Amino acid sequence: MARRRQLYEGKAKILFEGPEPGTLVQYFKDDATAFNSEKKGTITGKGVLNNRISEYLMMRLMDIGVPTHFIRRLNMREQLIREVEIIPLEVVVRNVAAGSLSTRLGIAEGTRLPRSIIEYYYKNAALKNPMVCEEHITAFGWAATQDLDDVVALTLRINDFLTGLFLGVGISLVDFKIEFGRLYENEEMRIVLADEVSPDNCRLWDSKTGEKMDKDRFRRDLGKVEEGYQEVARRLGILPEAGVRDLKGPEMMQ
Ligand code: ADP
Ligand code: MG
Repeated sequence: MARRRQLYEGKAKILFEGPEPGTLVQYFKDDATAFNSEKKGTITGKGVLNNRISEYLMMRLMDIGVPTHFIRRLNMREQLIREVEIIPLEVVVRNVAAGSLSTRLGIAEGTRLPRSIIEYYYKNAALKNPMVCEEHITAFGWAATQDLDDVVALTLRINDFLTGLFLGVGISLVDFKIEFGRLYENEEMRIVLADEVSPDNCRLWDSKTGEKMDKDRFRRDLGKVEEGYQEVARRLGILPEAGVRDLKGPEMMQ
């Protein structure tokens, strides 16, 4: 296949033009950043694992009727997705206190929250992705009230479903960040889950020992970062058989 045109390089992924109009190829890198890019590094094999984990979780979500941008995985590091108009928000759901919620509000990490809490951050790296409220989102036109209603309804379903899915494999879904986009089809617009769902964007703790299996191992220098991601894939039953080292480079699967 001819080399595709690169459209965007982000912190964790690269977007290429897809084979058909309205499609993109999402390439998962091993690069890792934290604290709004203040900390940078690489996690060997992360891209392979996140590609596989995000594929799996998006497919399970599609099974229950959650619309997503995912079409199919192409190879170890790439997946075919539908191009959407990204809503410039990072939607965060929290079930247990951790990270910035704990530090900002003084709530001990690990405290179960009385109910799931949704937070919004404006996707703007120059402003360091500031937290915003619904009033900002609708007043500045980042999303219409109806769009935001859809985002909240989808987010709550995603949270309930993923919480159960992870609990079934001994993992507590503490919190996670997702992105949504607008997909236009036959004059209609639908809000769909976009980007990725992976240990880069979720806090995943072993439900018995509390051990962290997500990007906090990188953020907090806990070591065994790749092992954490690998353990998530292993428990989901999707550890790539060939291992995570794809030194041969991308290969078309289908
Ligand atoms: P960033 O550093 O901006 O977070 P990433 O490395 O995560 O970037 O690369 C993914 C980028 O692609 C993000 O900016 C994300 O909003 C965007 N994106 C994700 N899914 C889609 C999609 N289906 N259509 C268009 N853009 C997308
Ligand atoms: Mg991103």
